[in-house]
Amino acid sequence: MSLHFDGTEGDEKARRALSLAFSGGHMPHAVLLEGEQGSGTNALAAVLARASVCLSEGDKPCGRCAGCIKALAGSHPDILTVNGDDDPRAFPVDVIRKIRSDAFIRPNEAPRKVFVLLGAQNMSEVSQNALLKVLEEPPENVLFVLTATSAAALLPTVRSRVQVFSVSGGTLPADWSLAEKLARAVLASGEAELQFASSELLGSREKFRGVLRQMNLLFRDALVRRSGGTSCLSGREETVSALCRGLTRLSLCRMDEVTVKALGELIQNANIALLAAVYCVELRTAAGR
Ligand SMILES: [Zn+2]
Repeated sequence: MSLHFDGTEGDEKARRALSLAFSGGHMPHAVLLEGEQGSGTNALAAVLARASVCLSEGDKPCGRCAGCIKALAGSHPDILTVNGDDDPRAFPVDVIRKIRSDAFIRPNEAPRKVFVLLGAQNMSEVSQNALLKVLEEPPENVLFVLTATSAAALLPTVRSRVQVFSVSGGTLPADWSLAEKLARAVLASGEAELQFASSELLGSREKFRGVLRQMNLLFRDALVRRSGGTSCLSGREETVSALCRGLTRLSLCRMDEVTVKALGELIQNANIALLAAVYCVELRTAAGR
C-alpha cells in the first residue's frame, strides 16, 4: 500500500519520506513529525492515523471505507488523540500510563491501534519516561504518532525510539513588525487599529503566510507563559508579555485556533482580502473584544 494525501498538508519532501516508510507493509511502531505550528505536522499525523485504520486494499486512507469514515468523524475507537498543542498540560503522567496499558489491549476493529500525541514538546520528562517504556517494547499492531515543534524538545532516549520526519514550513520571516503590530492591535479597544494594520497583509500570499506563522508563535508563547512556562520561541518578549497580561488563557487558545485555521485556508488558496477581513473579525471575537 502507499499513503494517499489530500495534497494540502505538509511539504512534499516529508510526504514522500512518509510514503516510503509506510509502503510495503513495513509500518514503523512510532514516528515523530517535527515542524513548527502551521507546517502541517498535525494534519499529517491525522493522515497517518486514518491510513492505519483504513480497511481498503489500495492506497490509504481511501476516505470511503468504514474505518476512514469513523476516523474522519473523530469517532474511531482505535484512534486516541491527545492534543498538547491546544492544552500544554494535556500529558500528565497518568494519561501516559493509561495509554501504555491501552496499547496492550487488542484493537477493536482496525488492523492496529493508533495513539496520536500532538505537541509532544509540552510533555514533561516524567511523562516522556513513562512513554519510553512502551516505545522500548512496543506491542504488536500499535502505532504512535507524535508531533513536536522540534525533535530536540524530546529526551534523547525517546528520540532514539521513534522515526523522525522533518516537516518544513520554510523559515520564519526576520521582520516581526507587522505580526507584533497586529497582535497588539487585537488588544486595542476599537477595531480601527486592527483593520488598518491588516491592510498590510494583502501585499502577497507569502507575506500573509509568514505573518500568520509569526502570530501563531506569539500566541503559543503567550499561552505557555499563561500556563506558568518560561520558554519564548518567538523571542518577542514584550509583545508576548502584553498578550499574556491582556488576554485570558481561553482567548489565547481561540486566537491560536483561528490563526491555524487561517493558515490552512491560505494554503488552500482562499481569497486573501476576504481571508484577512474574516481573520480580523475572528481574532477580535476570540479576544472577547
Ligand atoms: Zn479507508
